[in-house]
Amino acid sequence: MNYRHAFHAGNFADVFKHILLTRILLHLGRKATPFRYIDTHAGVGLYNLQGDEARRSGEWPRGIGRITPGNVPADVLPLIEPYLDLVGPRDGTGCPTLYPGSPSIALGIARPQDRLIFCELHPTDAASLRKGLGRANRAKVVEIDGYVALNAYVPPQERRGLVLIDPPFEERGEFEAMLDGLVAAHRKWPTGIYALWYPLKDRTAVSRFANQLIASGIPRIAQVELVIDWTALDVGKLAGCGMILVNPPFGLEDEARLLLPYLAKTLTQSEPGSWQWRWLAGE
Ligand code: SAM
Repeated sequence: MNYRHAFHAGNFADVFKHILLTRILLHLGRKATPFRYIDTHAGVGLYNLQGDEARRSGEWPRGIGRITPGNVPADVLPLIEPYLDLVGPRDGTGCPTLYPGSPSIALGIARPQDRLIFCELHPTDAASLRKGLGRANRAKVVEIDGYVALNAYVPPQERRGLVLIDPPFEERGEFEAMLDGLVAAHRKWPTGIYALWYPLKDRTAVSRFANQLIASGIPRIAQVELVIDWTALDVGKLAGCGMILVNPPFGLEDEARLLLPYLAKTLTQSEPGSWQWRWLAGE
């Protein structure tokens, strides 16, 4: 496990993923009954944007560094504000110094009745996450393989909830592992929401994944994508990223159709950025 998310925290992919994550969790919070959040690849939960890793990669200035309340259109701002609040204070130059990972975002939105499980296989990262959580007794950190955890923790007691599957994609076969994990989990917990992040590097691999999802028979699946650099696709580099959303909350599509044009325009690295929301199954 060489992947360290500290190099990538706050980059365009995090912004895309975390805004969608925030919106889904806010939808879940609209009903009083508790929900469960399961994060299969949680990371450390909070990142220092002035730290050595973030400085060396230089990724966040082209991600969260470009998202400021001042450049968000008025109709989009209410959808982004909860995420910006979770990102927190900015320095004198208008940039945040810290960046929340998915566990911090989920903890920031979950209510006392909700329960959260954060799975992280890297021992150092799992320990940092546990330390950062302090005494949050709604949440537990487990040092475990994310796919083993998915099988073990699904179905939860709650009928409602979200599983975020956000692996590092450093091993071959990650698409297959995500697909198998999703299909097995959905069989046991068909009412859960599932969000699967993936990189847009290899169009063929993504098309194959989408076709396998269609063939899985899972009834409601949306595919959301953001492309920020078409030129990267030609050379097998990261051109954008996507999320597979199973059982997305009602209303999320309309929100995404407002949010994604702003993100494509703001985060693009080779004009023009683009986005899509398409239903692979249902709707
Ligand atoms: N979800 C986090 C967020 O949005 O802030 C970022 C997660 S990062 C992309 C992937 C994480 O998965 C890394 O922290 C890595 O150490 C961890 N990891 C790698 N292989 C894993 C596995 N098999 N099971 C669980 N975690 C794993």
